[in-house]
Amino acid sequence: MAEQDRAGAARLAGRVGRMAPSPTVSLDSRVKELRSQGVDIVNFTAGEPDFPTPEPVKEAARAGLKAELTKYAPVAGTPDLRRAVADKLARENGLSYDPAEIVVSFGGKHSLYNAFMVLCDPGDEVIIPAPYWVSYPEQAKLAGGEPVFVPTDPDRGFHLDLDALARAVTPRTRAIVLNSPSNPTGAVLSRQEIEAVADLARRHDLWVISDEIYEHLVYDGREHVSIAGLEGMKERTILVNGLSKAFAMTGWRVGYAAAPRPVAEAMTAFQGHVTHGLPGFIQAAAVAALQSPPETVQAMVREYDRRRRYVVERLRSMPGVRCAEPEGAFYAFLDISALLGRQAGIETDMDLASHLLEEGRVAVVPGTGFGWPGALRLSYATSMEQLQEGLDRMERVFRALAGA
Ligand code: PMP
Ligand code: GLU
Repeated sequence: MAEQDRAGAARLAGRVGRMAPSPTVSLDSRVKELRSQGVDIVNFTAGEPDFPTPEPVKEAARAGLKAELTKYAPVAGTPDLRRAVADKLARENGLSYDPAEIVVSFGGKHSLYNAFMVLCDPGDEVIIPAPYWVSYPEQAKLAGGEPVFVPTDPDRGFHLDLDALARAVTPRTRAIVLNSPSNPTGAVLSRQEIEAVADLARRHDLWVISDEIYEHLVYDGREHVSIAGLEGMKERTILVNGLSKAFAMTGWRVGYAAAPRPVAEAMTAFQGHVTHGLPGFIQAAAVAALQSPPETVQAMVREYDRRRRYVVERLRSMPGVRCAEPEGAFYAFLDISALLGRQAGIETDMDLASHLLEEGRVAVVPGTGFGWPGALRLSYATSMEQLQEGLDRMERVFRALAGA
């Protein structure tokens, strides 16, 4: 049943029909379900680190449970955690935030939702460079905003098309979403690009929602630049980050936003009606993660880099596949348009993803979910053995199709 009909039949609110379920979440759940039934599938869907959560973080959670940190905890975060986030932003990003400007939420996803909810009035436009992470447009719409997509340049590794970005600004534009390093493309924006976006935001009095959740995952000596550090930008930026990716803590649900005080207070008030604060023992564990030595993250980054090189080399040797070099994050985004329309029933990226799952027993996310048909996203946040096996399977399917 189409979304619209389902909402209509159950008499649900119109927003239900306007929102598509998250393809990354639903595909990952489907794979996990199939696996639990004993089906052998290589899962390249969700961006979920395969490393265990670092032991000192788990220890801090256990200590928190022993200390009975199991009651309602402060909505925006305990003083210790807000201070630990402010210290992290100072130490690693050179940003000066007061703990009162930090709001801790249930994952970066929740921080982003809070951000859209406090910024958007009905009809406000939110500029989102495409390809984009699946939840930005849906969250903007849930908040009453209207996503405005601006394609990036696939021939320049999906970097921003700054002219197109400037042309997309209208009197209704409220915010621009930045995500560097990018999910799904891995593009890491240069300082010049970030400066150009800052210039646009200052000139047109726009907010920037800067999702920096992959900040540590940059390769080949690239640097992550936080737009909040640029002249006049702290007061118009909502910086979003979280512990899921850097500390392999996806299930713990720890994200945070740093924003000017009135914005932070609005986000806190909003959250106070929706979820309350994270469990106290998880907040204690989050402090331990933020205070862990840089080597904890660096070791994971080195391993992702090794996988990245392997994956790109393998993909580039496959027929019909074009793959831009991912500069950061842990995804490869491949153009498979040359493989479409060669066999009956395989006309779109979604058809090809289904075919890969059924024929090859390997799961990837179709580009359409990221606003970029004709592509597939593969997460390499999985073991080398799984990568090897999954890429072998993909290669077999692609060879068969290319020869078809
Ligand atoms: N932003 C981006 C770009 C993501 O890929 C994700 C998903 N992992 C998130 C935010 C949200 O992550 P979490 O809610 O686990 O912090
Ligand atoms: N963000 C990750 C992804 O893109 C995890 C799934 C999700 O929450 O979207 O795969």
